[in-house]
Amino acid sequence: MAIDPSKMSGQPGYEEETKAYIKQVLDLVSKKEITKEEAAWITKETVEGFRENVNPGFLEYRKTVTQGGQFAAVEWSDEGSCFKDVNGKEYIDCLGGFGIYNVGHRHPKVTKAVEDQLRRQALHSQDLLDPLRAMLAKILERITPGDLKYSFFTNSGTESVEAALKLVKMYSERTTIISTTRAFHGKSLGSLSGTAKGMFRKPFLPLIPGFRHIPFGDIDMMRKTFETCALVGEDVAAVLLEPIQGEGGIILPPPDYLRQVRELCDQYGALLVFDEVQTGMGRTGKMFACELYGVVPDILCLAKAFGGGVIPAGAVVATEEVFQSLFPNPFMHTTTFGGNPLACAAAIATIDVLLEEELPARAEESGRYFLAGLRQVAEGHEDKVMEIRGIGLMIGIEFHRDEVGYEISKAMFDEGILVAGTLINSKTIRIEPPLTISKEEMDRVIATFRKVLEKTKA
Ligand SMILES: *Cc1c(COP(=O)(O)O)cnc(C)c1O
Repeated sequence: MAIDPSKMSGQPGYEEETKAYIKQVLDLVSKKEITKEEAAWITKETVEGFRENVNPGFLEYRKTVTQGGQFAAVEWSDEGSCFKDVNGKEYIDCLGGFGIYNVGHRHPKVTKAVEDQLRRQALHSQDLLDPLRAMLAKILERITPGDLKYSFFTNSGTESVEAALKLVKMYSERTTIISTTRAFHGKSLGSLSGTAKGMFRKPFLPLIPGFRHIPFGDIDMMRKTFETCALVGEDVAAVLLEPIQGEGGIILPPPDYLRQVRELCDQYGALLVFDEVQTGMGRTGKMFACELYGVVPDILCLAKAFGGGVIPAGAVVATEEVFQSLFPNPFMHTTTFGGNPLACAAAIATIDVLLEEELPARAEESGRYFLAGLRQVAEGHEDKVMEIRGIGLMIGIEFHRDEVGYEISKAMFDEGILVAGTLINSKTIRIEPPLTISKEEMDRVIATFRKVLEKTKA
């Protein structure tokens, strides 16, 4: 196809227009307050941009989640437990970016550390030794359980799982990896191999060979799979698990499950990998969910809340025994941005906030209050609500029908509360607010849940 000459760079008109547009956008970014006209312009540009240049599918999706006028709810600012749309409407964030905002939105200690670091150096040379990486790794050795010691830093949960899989493969000659049904580990070709949902996997098959999915929580099946794999000469290299499944709908394991899986791994010489991308950093009432069950993995994957909801950041922490396969050549697995100074500053400040404000303990206490409140509201609505479960501030409300969950999450959104529940997956709506959420905010969520539940038909 011929290039439209008026659209080539260097063409005065085209380039001037682009520059003017960029200026308008940057002006907006720098503004503390925006006017009604600016809000209208932002909304129009956002909707158009999604339709023409991002993905029109999101507009259809958003339309089904919100009522008419709010279809174009566009987020603009955030603080504490809340965020605001461009029109100034405030929402309590009970979705928390699926567990990003453990220390709240833009915690001042985290933004300060990032701003301080930004004023000195943002990214690293990639060649010299960068100090914050070393310091963060040391802090991680201290706060993670057992003999977890060495850290590799990433930019996302998917990358943490990807790095964990490569560590398993570097360490072990074996190729079988056991994962579970309803698991979510990410969507890159490697991590997707561990993810369970058929809809997300099918177009990309075959994925990494050697993965087997078995039902989460079923220790007999786990034992049989270990036995069978050994018998046929395809010994298990590793078991990959979320200690508590998040995306799968807040599924807690039977109390003894993780300890028994650990025993099987030890018996058969397999590694245990915990994906704590969602459960980690205080979410479940402990710094890491594995501590709830007294089980230490060989490899621990972190991300989501790791960067304090300010900078994307993740880590995979492993024992020396496992990690040492990367000692001879540290370039066997690398990433340009993983562990950059801004991300490390954010993660260090995040851990400081978690420890100083004792947020794991607070999550436990608030979670108990929240869970009790929601359960009380559901009494007498057993025709709609099947179960409310969770631990810490990782709570799931399961409905008998998808449609009920969908109606409820939609109605809650209209009342200024964001929960995780979509048209595609509303059978269980997830509540994962900042661990700093106040009692008043929880009370408002509980009262709103009461109001919308009473109005919703079974
Ligand atoms: C979100 C999530 C991931 C993927 O993390 P991204 O940052 O989206 O790549 C992996 N594992 C678990 C358990 C998650 O919840």
